[in-house]
Amino acid sequence: MSEISEANVRAEVRAWLAAHWDPDLSLVAWRNLLADSGWGMPQWPKAWHGRGLPAGLGAVVEEEFAAVGAVGVIRGGIGRLAAATLLDHGTDRQKEKFLRRIVTGEDTWCQLFSEPGSGSDLAGATTRVDFDGQNWIVNGQKVWTTSAHHAKYGTLLARTDWDAPKHEGLSYFILDLKQPGVEVQPLRQMNGHASFNQVFFTDAKVPPEHLVGAVGNGWQVAVTTLAYERRFADGLAAPRRAARAGRIYEEERAEIATVMEPYRWYPQRAGRVDLVIERAKETGANKDPLVRQEIAKLMILARSAEWTSRRARAAQRQGRPQGPEGSLGKLAASHVARAAAHVHTLITGTAAMLTGEQSPRNGTIAEILVSVPAVSIAGGTDEIQRNIIAERVLDLPKEPRFDTGPFRNVRRN
Ligand SMILES: Cc1cc2nc3c(=O)[nH]c(=O)nc-3n(C[C@H](O)[C@H](O)[C@H](O)COP(=O)(O)OP(=O)(O)OC[C@H]3O[C@@H](n4cnc5c(N)ncnc54)[C@H](O)[C@@H]3O)c2cc1C
Repeated sequence: MSEISEANVRAEVRAWLAAHWDPDLSLVAWRNLLADSGWGMPQWPKAWHGRGLPAGLGAVVEEEFAAVGAVGVIRGGIGRLAAATLLDHGTDRQKEKFLRRIVTGEDTWCQLFSEPGSGSDLAGATTRVDFDGQNWIVNGQKVWTTSAHHAKYGTLLARTDWDAPKHEGLSYFILDLKQPGVEVQPLRQMNGHASFNQVFFTDAKVPPEHLVGAVGNGWQVAVTTLAYERRFADGLAAPRRAARAGRIYEEERAEIATVMEPYRWYPQRAGRVDLVIERAKETGANKDPLVRQEIAKLMILARSAEWTSRRARAAQRQGRPQGPEGSLGKLAASHVARAAAHVHTLITGTAAMLTGEQSPRNGTIAEILVSVPAVSIAGGTDEIQRNIIAERVLDLPKEPRFDTGPFRNVRRN
């Protein structure tokens, strides 16, 4: 077997693409080839549709795909988080059943974690799951569930034991959303998009083989999912494809328009730092000394955040476990987004509030202003990140706890 080096990987993927890439294939047929060869998810283990490559060489594979215009696996979405979690905690049967169809994009997923009374306090989930002798039976409600309106499966964190302490009574399941006991209701956001849903369960069924990890071990499995969520946070933006001709590109465009629709506003929620200098030049604000100061501050903040996240990626490539950079990076992303929204307002003035064709950048600036607050909430709020940094990085005393003992007796929202 050839040595794993950048040059070897580049040569191998290039040769494979030269022999197999065909834009007239269907998207699913092509992605099945990716699943068989491992080039779709090169960092995954060889036994499970990958090539066992270090994460750092993924970029080399992506470059070679881009060079010939080859389509990869779907970039964003919760399926990637579910797959990463299953690779760590799933049974072989679960990996067999779910991983290939995540690579091919045939199944889309959502994350059924947050509830009306437990978001930050995720371990306080009260959706209940009881075993009836044949199946697990689910009753309760989840909320803020991105993509539930088109997802086939959801990763569900729910309570199986009310007498165990809070974190020990939870279990983690794979739930089929396309069944009679599941009702999905879309929610509309202030930026006009409808990415989220509330999901109600009335005697919904989960077969025993869809329990991930042991009964009562759901919190540990969920922590894995959340760690991947923070790590992948910058990879959730929808890809932009050039208008190429060919069956596969048409099918991919259709996929992006549906599956990636909930993420269409994600670039705006990050604050669009990339637009700031252009907009300052366009409006003449680059000559205003006060605005220039604010732009400089923003750029310093954005650059430092980028370096922190690069440091985290370098550590990952060297096989070191996820460190505090995950929380620091997430918190930094909120600061950058808010600072960018502030600078866009200074540059654009009151017109920043306008939408429609004649508004600045066709409403993009207004969309930034109403989308940025989401960064400070999604995947754990700023306050929660600060708690994590205080306790795990700065070694400060832990928050006082009032939630010990049987969960049944714990005071709840
Ligand atoms: C874009 C986006 C996508 C999302 N997608 C999903 C999804 O797909 N699936 C899913 O399950 N959820 C999803 N969520 C929900 C998200 O995980 C929750 O909104 C988040 O965890 C916060 O929970 P909450 O909304 O219940 O707020 P709460 O937990 O009620 O928090 C309210 C306020 O209190 C503060 N607070 C709470 N606890 C503490 C504490 N201990 N110390 C200090 N301050 C505290 C919070 O920081 C916040 O300011 C998404 C959210 C967003 C914005």
